[in-house]
Amino acid sequence: MATLDIWSSSELAELKPITLGVLRSNATRRHGVTRWKLGSSPPLVSKKVDTIDLHPQLLTEKWLAYGAKVLFHEYLHALGNIKHDSAFYSLESLWPSKEAKEMGRSFTTEMSENRAQWIWRCAKCSVSHYRQRRSNGRYQCRKCGKVLQDVTNTT
Ligand SMILES: [Zn+2]
Ligand SMILES: [Zn+2]
Repeated sequence: MATLDIWSSSELAELKPITLGVLRSNATRRHGVTRWKLGSSPPLVSKKVDTIDLHPQLLTEKWLAYGAKVLFHEYLHALGNIKHDSAFYSLESLWPSKEAKEMGRSFTTEMSENRAQWIWRCAKCSVSHYRQRRSNGRYQCRKCGKVLQDVTNTT
């Protein structure tokens, strides 16, 4: 973040005291969150932000590159860019890791697959949809028109 030359070192120093925590591991769409202290709006960022929580899986080696980008996203919020507006996204796009940009979607997919209790599977083409509930014979494969079967997700 320091190499981007956008923030002064004193602004960046304010990020240091922010406590980092973890989200519940069953979060699938939320990968990070900046929690603000209620009420007061003191001048220093570090006094306004309570904690930044990241998805626990982002701290594993596999997802670390994406985790760094999520933390960058939350730090942008902490530095006063509250809304996801075009200014926010142009700052976010400065993050240098191209890999991280592409990992977001796979992370979402993998987290929801991990969380799913059931797989709705087509017996013919083996297409699989990961779901929390059983399909109970209510859905058909879009390709084959076969009724999807419920299989327990063991992943
Ligand atoms: Zn955000
Ligand atoms: Zn099928």
